[in-house]
Amino acid sequence: QHVLRYCRIGTHRQWILIVLGFCQSEVPFSSLAVITGGASGIGKATAFEFVRNGAKVIIADVQDALGRAVAAELGGPNAACYTRFDVADEAQVAAAVDLAVERHGRLDVMFNNAGIGGDVSATPLASLDLAGFDRVMAVNARGALAGVKHAARVMVPRRRGSIVCTASTAGVMGATGPTAYGVSKAAVVRAAAAELGRSGVRVNAVSPHAVPTPLAMDTVARWFPGRGPEEVRRIVEGMNEMVGLVLEAEDVARAVVYLASDEAKYVNGHNLLVDGGYTVSKTPNM
Ligand code: NAD
Repeated sequence: QHVLRYCRIGTHRQWILIVLGFCQSEVPFSSLAVITGGASGIGKATAFEFVRNGAKVIIADVQDALGRAVAAELGGPNAACYTRFDVADEAQVAAAVDLAVERHGRLDVMFNNAGIGGDVSATPLASLDLAGFDRVMAVNARGALAGVKHAARVMVPRRRGSIVCTASTAGVMGATGPTAYGVSKAAVVRAAAAELGRSGVRVNAVSPHAVPTPLAMDTVARWFPGRGPEEVRRIVEGMNEMVGLVLEAEDVARAVVYLASDEAKYVNGHNLLVDGGYTVSKTPNM
């Protein structure tokens, strides 16, 4: 409720927050968030949502031109900056966390969101390419875990911080064909919440269904060769059959900001499905 009111207040939000005394219940406007995969799709939308709520963001990605453009669009150095790092390289993840602390004195939110689809053809297990599997795991699972590890390194001494990882409905339901992707996303969900909760640091995940981002569009384009971008987009959007609405990156972004904020101060170890009920509709009652 407070978050909603906060968002609608727009440019006067800080003053009105102070007057209403809600400062503790939001993503504080001095928060510093690192967003991996922030140059595109869900990460980019989340960067905008954080900045709209008054936080500063460090966008971390491997697409330099896009990442810099997003940082500039967000308002430049006062709101956002871009740093290149590959989440598959632990040393780079550690360096990005250190950069955040060096420049801003602390890290409040770590959004481990960078991901790749890998081979998403309906490959039978017998011919699964294990080298490709390793690459998907290195980015999606190991990369997220490296983010959790190094964010915790600087958050635990302060006994404060929120870590959110992007999982997927593919990790909840299992997916035939994209075996590596489904496994990598299942691995992300429970990372470290039990251990870190006692130190005041929460770890949660969001699991979106199909959002028409480059990752999803590339995946679907490979499933339906010869279809143009508009048709591919319609197929991705049509995968959200539940509530008759298109799932947008902004819907996921708002869920991430909720999990990161003090509104969710007792939410830990949770995997928040952003799927319009798709997963539950496919799961029989036990
Ligand atoms: P996207 O392609 O728009 O964004 C992914 C970003 O991650 C890109 O900017 C890419 O450059 C970056 N990235 C990839 N590998 C990286 C690496 N090694 N180091 C740093 N950055 C790297 O796709 P998206 O859909 O926004 O994906 C974001 C996350 O959401 C991913 O983890 C994806 O698996 C997950 N997800 C997406 C969907 C969907 O339907 N789009 C559904 C469920 C989960």
